[in-house]
Amino acid sequence: MTEKTTLAGLMQDHALTVDRFIDFAARWHGTTPVVSRTVTGETERSSYADIAQRARLLSSALLGRGIVEGDRVATLAMNHARHVEAWYGVMGIGAVCHTVNPRLFDEQIVYIINHAGDRILLADAAFVPLLGRVLPHCPSIEQVILFPDGSPEDSPFPTIGYEAFLREAGAAANWAGIDERAACGLCYTSGTTGQPKGVLYSHRSNYLHALATLQHDFMNFSARDVVLPVVPMFHANAWGIAFSAPASGAKLVMPGARLDGASLESLIHEEGVTFAAGVPTVWQGLLQHLARSGGSLGTLKRVLIGGSACPPALLQALEDDHGVEVVHAWGMTETSPVATAASPTVATVALPAEQRRAQALKQGRPMFDVDLCLKGEDGEIVPHNGATPGHLMVRGSTVAGAYFRHDADILDAEGWFDTGDVATIDEHGFVRITDRSKDLIKSGGEWISSIEIENMVMSHPAVANAAVVGQPHERWGERPLLIVEAREGATATSGELIAHLEGRIAKWWMPDEVRFVDRIPLGATGKIDKKRIRAEMIGQPA
Ligand code: ADP
Repeated sequence: MTEKTTLAGLMQDHALTVDRFIDFAARWHGTTPVVSRTVTGETERSSYADIAQRARLLSSALLGRGIVEGDRVATLAMNHARHVEAWYGVMGIGAVCHTVNPRLFDEQIVYIINHAGDRILLADAAFVPLLGRVLPHCPSIEQVILFPDGSPEDSPFPTIGYEAFLREAGAAANWAGIDERAACGLCYTSGTTGQPKGVLYSHRSNYLHALATLQHDFMNFSARDVVLPVVPMFHANAWGIAFSAPASGAKLVMPGARLDGASLESLIHEEGVTFAAGVPTVWQGLLQHLARSGGSLGTLKRVLIGGSACPPALLQALEDDHGVEVVHAWGMTETSPVATAASPTVATVALPAEQRRAQALKQGRPMFDVDLCLKGEDGEIVPHNGATPGHLMVRGSTVAGAYFRHDADILDAEGWFDTGDVATIDEHGFVRITDRSKDLIKSGGEWISSIEIENMVMSHPAVANAAVVGQPHERWGERPLLIVEAREGATATSGELIAHLEGRIAKWWMPDEVRFVDRIPLGATGKIDKKRIRAEMIGQPA
């Protein structure tokens, strides 16, 4: 053999496991605060050093209960420091942290706990009534550990307070020796379209994802940032922030259960938050609160908005009225989740203001190690010309290759995962999601983008939220039905809204009917629940 074929790299070979994030933060940013808002509204202060130390105690107590590598340990909790400890304590010993979304229906929670085969559940005490309903149907759960501490009297299931459980620990556990390809996190898609499916992250995929999200065009954290993840830790891996914040030494501010406008405003001011991340409805709630209170966004400099499309009116209000930079990102549980963001490039920065904003409202360009393409119904690549829609396909080290305990092949012959989203990609490489394939409205054989109509309707001052769904139609197959939730104290007529849309969308996209509702139903992750709208409004099976 020649030297060329045998030559191996001579670099140190450390496994890419997620415990490195918290150990790095503990060593180099040990005193950096991690602040948590409690259910009663006070704040509790911890630090990266505390979290790393207490997570090891949790590991030790879990080992003492017989938890071994590969076992699933669930959490059912809002964002707070103890929940971060739980992630690291579980993952550090090679067990899998399954984040359960408390906003799912009871039957879905039962389904995913049983599907995952969780052995231990760490839950917020506030969810005890929920546990009372679901746990009788979850035989795999041996022990419930309640945050922050204490245990209800006469509990029908075995419970112990979190602090009492930590006291069971002997010496802090050792985290060495976990394979970087071992599973560390399990997150089920919220079932916006179909039964929840489990995405099983590896240490390596979470490690690479967190580093990639720190690119300037994405999260761009520094040790001077104060980061507020409004996105819950039970939704899509919390967008990686429980890893990326310690990786950069940013202060972490955890909002707990209080996600209303007034609570977020006070947290931003009291803790000097500079960066926050969440779904559009969170920011809409916050801005509506500020409009009433006359308050401000204080130190906030940037927000990452994703999970569903950022309405133009929201981007405009945040940037023009509040001077906060918006990074509009797209991703899904299956992509860890961050995959694209609409940060400008040299070419798009040079565009006239209106076009620049249009680019910022797209879902943007892929982050490092994510590859994308568009495919037609026939599986052939569709041109990336900004106009031709196709099925958005994705691949990379942070993209799911299969679902947990699911036999179906989810990649095509070339290794692409079909996101279920329909999109265009323009000459600048910016993706624009036009719809979820299941939400597309097909009228006379052509696709109508529900997202685009919704965005236009939401730019009307009387509209708080809007949803467009396809209504069966004899001649055209389907026609758009517009559902509107008016802003508090505001009114608009159907005629006014249709007039507002004229000239802004194609004529044949014009909704045939407008219906006003008190509240547009939101699903478990704060997105408009179109399954429910279709079931309730047009009698389609959910
Ligand atoms: P689910 O809603 O099924 O639980 P996810 O939370 O993983 O699953 O959501 C992923 C989906 O959310 C994407 O496939 C896409 O349809 C939608 N989505 C996420 N971000 C955006 C965005 N910025 N614009 C439009 N749609 C988005």
